[in-house]
Amino acid sequence: MEIQNYINGKFVKPISNDWIDNYCPADGEIYGQIPNSSTADVENAYKAAETAFNDWSQTSIEERSRILIKISELLEANLDRFAEAESKDNGKPIGLAKTIDIPRAASNFRFFGNAITQFSSESHESVGQDAVNFTLRQPIGVVGCISPWNLPLYLFTWKIAPAIAAGNCVVAKPSEITPLTAFLLGEICTEAGLPNGVLNIVHGFGKTTGHAIIEHPNIKAISFTGGTSTGAQIAKIAAPMFKKLSLELGGKNPNIIFADCDYDDMLRTTVRSSFANQGQICLCGSRIFIEKSIYNKFKSDFVEKVKQLKIGHPSNPDTDIGALVSIPHLEKVKSYINFENDEGGTILCGGKQITINGYENGYYFEPTIFEVTNNECRLNQEEIFGPIVTIMPFDDEDNALQMANDIKYGLSATVWTNNLKRTMRMSSKLQAGIVWINTWMLRDLRTPFGGVKASGVGREGGFEALRFFTETKNVCIKY
Ligand code: NDP
Repeated sequence: MEIQNYINGKFVKPISNDWIDNYCPADGEIYGQIPNSSTADVENAYKAAETAFNDWSQTSIEERSRILIKISELLEANLDRFAEAESKDNGKPIGLAKTIDIPRAASNFRFFGNAITQFSSESHESVGQDAVNFTLRQPIGVVGCISPWNLPLYLFTWKIAPAIAAGNCVVAKPSEITPLTAFLLGEICTEAGLPNGVLNIVHGFGKTTGHAIIEHPNIKAISFTGGTSTGAQIAKIAAPMFKKLSLELGGKNPNIIFADCDYDDMLRTTVRSSFANQGQICLCGSRIFIEKSIYNKFKSDFVEKVKQLKIGHPSNPDTDIGALVSIPHLEKVKSYINFENDEGGTILCGGKQITINGYENGYYFEPTIFEVTNNECRLNQEEIFGPIVTIMPFDDEDNALQMANDIKYGLSATVWTNNLKRTMRMSSKLQAGIVWINTWMLRDLRTPFGGVKASGVGREGGFEALRFFTETKNVCIKY
């Protein structure tokens, strides 16, 4: 299958006619080619976006809203096709793609199609000075959106939808590892009547295609989701050009379990928050801290449940754990297994790459639980972003909090307790952009989303995203 760039409403080959192989993680086969786009392709995408901007920024809110909601409806109507594509490209279980990834991509368009109709700005009456101030929130112009491979369409649309809802035109790049659903999205946008040039999708490597978007002098805002070190490189390039930046970066999130929690609910959810999408979700709770009094019980129950997870081909509806996304990522995950010897951790289950009959070249790895004794170990400090979690006991609230915060990351945290005062203390003291109490990944798209410390800068979601994708201008009228 040949994936092409989507520029000015047309599917086009890369100018260089240079291509990258696209691998299927479930069987290791090459099943397509994607454009290895250069600076010249990005320039064409930019020009199309710039040309479209005048009309699109003047298009009524109602019309923009109508088109976004139409895109959402078309995604829903094509659920199976998109879910199959996402599962094949990424290795994720088809059930997950059908119930989470694609419905959520559709929700992103519907949500921001509605949100833009409710987005308002402030007015300040300067009493005693015969003046009134009001604030305009104007689209920025051409903006860049760059997204990772773990939740491909879900995160791609999380950026694109608010950007175009707010009246901007977009040059977007999905991860070159998972380009397929972004490619299919182009068709849907055309069918929904999105004017040519409002959304332009260029495929290629981050270091070249992504870099060309970041360093383009007239792409004035960048919304990026990906790794922390990539975010730092992007900031270095963008900062001297004074670009607006939203960076959603890595996480190494604590899951803190107190003895007074609803145990069964906690156990069920902890299996999910550890291994959903093969642990390749930035919000996964990969450091699990358990109150000492229930530690041994939790340890045996958790191991038993995780051993029951079915690893299999992503297209099998019974599969819980599909394939990891790529060989380099599989190798990275495997490299942490040696830490058992290096740092005194003990593997309680998993720990091995496995083969699935008929798909011997697929990238499968067992869900793995390490018991560790020291929060300073690399297993507890580095983002693995795969099916590996650690468990460790804590003595009391202060001890749990100290370990949870003693890390460079600060994306999300989960706390399991039925003690209201503790809930409030923990919520206030945890260093994270998002805190879940007695749940995990329960999302309401109106809420601010993002991290602190090395997990990012800025917030997306709800009106925060619309604020990011608009420039604020105050107008003062003396009467
Ligand atoms: P990367 O940082 O490697 O890549 C993310 C995107 O940026 C890809 O499209 C990539 O292209 C591109 N890119 C890479 N280098 C550059 C560059 N120099 N300039 C511009 N673009 C570039 O992350 P991964 O794709 O490996 O995704 C995993 C990471 O994403 C994890 O750290 C995870 O925690 C984080 N993440 C954060 C989330 C959040 O909301 N905070 C949500 C989901 C994931 P290419 O693929 O071609 O290299």
